[in-house]
Amino acid sequence: MPAAKTALITGARRGIGFEIATKLLGQGFAVVICDTDAEGVGKAVQSLDKSGQRVMGQCCDVRDEASVASLIQAVEVKFGGIDVLVNNAGISPKHNGKRAPVAQTDVSEWREVLDINLTGAFICSKLVLPHMKSARWGRIVNISSQAARTASMIAGAHYAASKAGMLAMARTLAAEVGPDGITVNCVAPGRIMTPMADEAGEQANAEYLKRIPVNRLGVPADVANVVAFLVSEEASFLTGTVIDINGGSLMI
Ligand code: NAD
Repeated sequence: MPAAKTALITGARRGIGFEIATKLLGQGFAVVICDTDAEGVGKAVQSLDKSGQRVMGQCCDVRDEASVASLIQAVEVKFGGIDVLVNNAGISPKHNGKRAPVAQTDVSEWREVLDINLTGAFICSKLVLPHMKSARWGRIVNISSQAARTASMIAGAHYAASKAGMLAMARTLAAEVGPDGITVNCVAPGRIMTPMADEAGEQANAEYLKRIPVNRLGVPADVANVVAFLVSEEASFLTGTVIDINGGSLMI
């Protein structure tokens, strides 16, 4: 891996995104984190690299094309461009810790989930392509979900639809940009213990655990390790695919 590649991880102030940022920094990437929580971005940057030499953070809403474009411009000035994009920013609204049935889901909530989880990934992917195409190298990884692969116990239909949309978008984009040296893949995590997973409560996570053959819930590093492989040189023949990370819960 050439030394100076730069990775942008969206929604990376905490949880899975922060772990991916930590992992890729350790692998020699310059790392850019963005999130809507400005204070959280500042704290995350500080804890990753106090010198700020190889890490940069910016408050950015992935739904807002202008906000993403300004982030990308700032990255071009500091690091020269984005070689790796991890579309990680996402929400999974709960009502008293539970998924809302379709009949009780407001269309405004449906739109917000699609807008952040799917349209946000589209906007970020679109805006990083010019640099990747001119470099003739790029990696895009979408953080989808097991909810896109099977009926979800915990997430709502809007979340499942947005995450399934990421899989379909990745396949189409992978076919488009393969000739440019860019790969596009997805990971579909099962239950991973983060602030998002905590919102479902202990009982829901305990129920989930009963369905996991390896007998533990996932941790953010389980996802970060697979992402690190997908963005590596060794993964150049993988594109348009999805890797399930769930301790075996999808197969049973
Ligand atoms: P998290 O809530 O800890 O992290 C999500 C981050 O995205 C937050 O920091 C949030 O502020 C940020 N974000 C939300 N809206 C944004 C926006 N419009 N623009 C920029 N940033 C925004 O959750 P997590 O569990 O770490 O989830 C990370 C990703 O992994 C999400 O896409 C989630 O759907 C996916 N995922 C999580 C699990 C799990 O069990 N935790 C399972 C499957 C998939």
